[in-house]
Amino acid sequence: MKTNAKIRNFIAGQFVEPVGGKYLDNIEPATGKAYSQVADSDSRDVELAVAAAEKAFANWSRTAAAERSRILLRVADLIERDLEKFGRAESIDTGKPLSLAHILDIPRAVANFRFFATAILHTESEAHITDGVAFNYTLHQPRGIAGLISPWNLPLYLLSWKIAPAIAVGNTAIAKPSELTPMTAFLLCEVCAEAGLPNGVLNVVHGTGPNVGAAITTHPKIGTISFTGGTVTGRKVAEACAPLFKKVSLELGGKNPNIVFADADLDAAITGSVRSSFANQGQICLCGSRVFVERSAYKDFVDRFIDKTSKLKVGDPLDEKTDQGAIVNKAQLDKIKFYVDLAQKEGGKITLGGSVPKSINERCQSGYFFPPTIITDLPVSCRTNREEIFGPVITITPFDNEEEVIGYANDTEYGLASSVWTQNLNRAHRVAEKIHTGTVWVNCWLVRDLRVPFGGMKASGVGREGGEEALRFFTEPKNVCIAK
Ligand code: NDP
Repeated sequence: MKTNAKIRNFIAGQFVEPVGGKYLDNIEPATGKAYSQVADSDSRDVELAVAAAEKAFANWSRTAAAERSRILLRVADLIERDLEKFGRAESIDTGKPLSLAHILDIPRAVANFRFFATAILHTESEAHITDGVAFNYTLHQPRGIAGLISPWNLPLYLLSWKIAPAIAVGNTAIAKPSELTPMTAFLLCEVCAEAGLPNGVLNVVHGTGPNVGAAITTHPKIGTISFTGGTVTGRKVAEACAPLFKKVSLELGGKNPNIVFADADLDAAITGSVRSSFANQGQICLCGSRVFVERSAYKDFVDRFIDKTSKLKVGDPLDEKTDQGAIVNKAQLDKIKFYVDLAQKEGGKITLGGSVPKSINERCQSGYFFPPTIITDLPVSCRTNREEIFGPVITITPFDNEEEVIGYANDTEYGLASSVWTQNLNRAHRVAEKIHTGTVWVNCWLVRDLRVPFGGMKASGVGREGGEEALRFFTEPKNVCIAK
């Protein structure tokens, strides 16, 4: 990866200039400076990608599953071979600690390709016998061109979570990474070419949401849309897709509850909660930004939680010792500051963090940093406790009983994920059943088995991806009915 490199589109197996010839600066969050440029494409580039994807579909959809699997396994091997390069690129592009990119983001991208490359070798099809009348079986066929739109927080992790199942089952794809974090998508294209992925099976068009994202969601030949991003954008995507009857999966925002009962193993709950609050600077849709602690354990929990959080090292993402890197851009940093001000106006007490750190190091003087911030004493229903901040800012609130905290947990428009810490098994089952989130973690966080259904309820999304759900989403079930 060269400094000031130009990130071009990848269409029909070639890196190509955007038709309009325009580029955007790609800023390194840790320094606040442009370090490369990314294509600022528009609907004309999406047209070229559609033509390439349509042409490639004829062969790819008929390629044997074993061959598709072989190529995707090769993609996984090559990402793994280049893990250092991918990890460093992801860290520079997003501001996340290098160590996190190495242990989480890039290995997960490898796992995504391996998982779906092998899943397609083990699928089954349903048969239904209509007594004395007919025999039915179901074909699961690729749907055509899939449009895959992803955000900046886990760039390769989330984009590969879409690309791998989409092309594994025989679709072709047009992917649009966030223009804030395009670098690893660019590297992935190099790897796909090296792995022998046929031209046009994966096309990547870089640029902004309004220019490229909207051109994908409104294109009549792109019949399947998998979108991960904010709830406001998700609504626009749904509106664009509805009149064209597209099959849509929306993975959206969250305001996730993290519930600690007094009977929990507090050491584990504190360690797990520090992670779920601040991993990736709190910029994971699954982060538990609302922590609820049973009153009898509240003081002990808060004191120890603050102590453990204060030991997290905010620093240069490229320093191996850094726990907390940079915020992705200035707009996101300003949003975080806005909510920390708002929390204070709403009566909240900042018990840790709350203001921009003085200096990180010479290199990062103009970077976008914000420390882990803990706010207490807020009412459950205030804006700080309802709106997604998407940064290293959490609130802690006491509760008195199970029923009350379930009410608190569900008192939000979101329903993505939750964590429950308790050693009482019956309680764990009871609470898990009553919480309105797509995932409930008990005594853990971010344990992500690739086979389980993943997605949100309410304003956190529509549909499920992961494992069998993803294979079904990216295929069309067709019933064949044969008379006896
Ligand atoms: P955005 O919704 O702003 O953007 C997501 C993607 O959509 C980007 O590639 C963006 O392009 C693109 N986009 C923007 N406008 C449109 C449009 N009109 N049509 C089509 N595409 C468009 O989200 P962020 O990138 O800010 O990511 C953070 C959000 O993502 C948070 O709300 C977070 O909770 C959510 N998220 C949800 C996850 C889940 O699994 N449920 C996982 C991770 C994050 P560009 O930015 O390049 O302009």
